[in-house]
Parts: sequence; C-alpha cells; structure tokens
Amino acid sequence: MGFSEFHGNEETVSRLRNLLAQGRLPHSVILSGPQGSGKYTLATMIAQALNCETRPLTDGLPDFCGQCGSCARIGEAADLDTRVAESLEARDAMKESEKKETRLFVQTHPDVLVIAPDPPQMMIKVDQVRRVVGSIYFRPLEARERVFIFTDGAFMKEAANSLLKALEEPPECATIFILAKNAGELLPTIRSRCMVFSLHSLSTETMERYLLDHCRQWKESERALVSRLSHGAVGRARSFDLPAYCAARHDALILLKTAFLAEFHTELFKVTETYRAGSEGREKMELLLRCLYSLLEDLLFLNAGAGQLLRNTDIRKELEKLAEEVDFDWLSAAALAIGEVERGMRRNLLRSLSLDGLEAALENHEKVLSP
Ligand SMILES: [Zn+2]
Repeated sequence: MGFSEFHGNEETVSRLRNLLAQGRLPHSVILSGPQGSGKYTLATMIAQALNCETRPLTDGLPDFCGQCGSCARIGEAADLDTRVAESLEARDAMKESEKKETRLFVQTHPDVLVIAPDPPQMMIKVDQVRRVVGSIYFRPLEARERVFIFTDGAFMKEAANSLLKALEEPPECATIFILAKNAGELLPTIRSRCMVFSLHSLSTETMERYLLDHCRQWKESERALVSRLSHGAVGRARSFDLPAYCAARHDALILLKTAFLAEFHTELFKVTETYRAGSEGREKMELLLRCLYSLLEDLLFLNAGAGQLLRNTDIRKELEKLAEEVDFDWLSAAALAIGEVERGMRRNLLRSLSLDGLEAALENHEKVLSP
C-alpha cells in the first residue's frame, strides 16, 4: 500500500508529497480533474499520509502504510459509492421528521469527514458545511490532522458562503479538500481561497499497459474495450463488469437494429420483458442506457469518418454495417429518445413500458426519413 498504488499524474502526486515533506501542504486544496482521474482516491491517500501511525518514507518522501489503525479506518471510506449508498439507505429508514434533519456524510475515522452532494439537488448544503465549520476549530480527537473532503464542488449559495471563512483562515491542524471536475466552475470566492492541483485521465495506451499487468485474465480485445470504456480511470477499469456490459450491449444492439429490421421485433419483446421494476431492474436498465449511448457515439464516430475513436472495438464490423444504415438525424433523434427514457425512469414509470416507447419513437423517426 501507499502512493505507489496511485496510477498516473506522477508529477502532481510528487508535488503534493514534497509539500507534505516540508510541512507546507496548503490547508485549503482543490483537486480538479475529469471523472475517474483519481481525485477522491488521492485525497483519501493524503488523509492517510497525514495521519499514518508509522509514517513511512518512500523515495525520501512521506507515504502511508495502509495497515495501521488510522490508515485502515480512513481506507474504509475508499469505496465512496458504497459508503454513500449505505448512508442514504440509513436515512431512508428514518422517520420523516428525522430525515429532514439528517444530511449526507461518510465518516469511517473520527477525524476524517467526507461530504458528498446531498440528493435530490445533488449539491453541498448549508447544514453539511455547518457541521464542518462546527468541528474544524477543535483539535483532532485521535489523528494529527483533521481532514474534510468535499467530493463535489457544487455548493448551494448559502453553503458556499458559510465555508469561506474556514477556507480563508483554516486552523493549523485541519485540511480541506474540494474535488471538482473543473476548477473553473467553482465560485471565484472559493477558488481564490484554495490552491488548485490538476489531475488528468490516463491515455488509452497507458491504461492498456496497466491492464496487461493487473488483469491478466482478460483477452487483448477485452483489455482494449475496457480501456476505452473506463475513460482513463484505473479504479473503474479494474472493477469493470465485462459480462454485464456485454449482455447489456447485446440488448442495446437489438434495440437499435429493431428500428430497421422488422424481424427483430420478437427479439426486442424478449429484451423488454426482462427489464422489470425493482432495484435490480433499475440497475440493468441504467446499464442498458449507458450501452445505448456508447453505441450511438460509436456510430457517430464511424459516420464522421473518425473510426479511430471507436470504443466498442471488439464489434467494429457489426457497428460499421449498422453505421451505413443510419444518418446524423437518426442518431440525434435516437439520443433524444434515450434521454426521454431516462427522464421517464426518474419519474418512475414502469421500465419496460418506457423501453417500448423508445422503440416506437425510433421507428416513427425512421418512417419520416424514408417516405
Ligand atoms: Zn498507516
């Protein structure tokens, strides 16, 4: 364990570790970078390095052991999606009156608090910031340094304003991280009080090399596919559920083809039948929609003569054939129709029903195109 487990962005990581070594790590830090570039992973690693009980050095720079009580407890927060889901479930189980008072936090160590956007607005709310401000000026309970990680830079206005003073004059033993896809989207009042460090995604080639070392069970064509689908994010690539993706993509292809070829109708019916309500159905449906988007994007690349950008490289031939049958108008209509299904899902319509609706929308458009 340690910073060697973090892949890519070596320069930024070493800059941060150098600042740690000199005891000059800023107390208000923005980590900016696209989804999957490792912002959250890096923030939790720094929290571990700040608080590791054994404080190892590698290459002469501060590292963390990953094993001591402090590292282990902070490490439990690493799987952010699961921790957030648990926290939301716990809140859902509360009484209505308590729900309103309860904000979303992830805390696996008494001195490390993770603040995630609170649904339904998916923004950081003022009550969340109040909890940060309310504890930041106290000495850490166990650790050397209190760490606060805002996993998103979308603050409600009052929340942002409440945070400004803490960002400007943070106490000696606290560090605030704000993670943002794009530092430029943060309020200038927040940005100007923090030091910004940028992360970028790994290139497809770097990712393929990484997978060759770490996921040997995958075939070359599978590694190529996962590298392209995980948008440069190592974590996402390693945990990529290839069988589920391929199954969903199979269904997505049938849906797209059905719009052209009548004999696919029976097939389609079979597909929509399997997408029923319930949380499992919802997950399946979301994956199906992601696959549909990714196929449409690939068809768009092929139509635009940019086949080198193709992601679903393992089914290139099939996609090339399909691309000959569709034009830009059809593709944009299809994208709009899928957007409709997504909105429908949010309104909690019966899932199979909205899939049938999508199919109807695609076919109608086809009729308009070919009189
Ligand atoms: Zn440790």
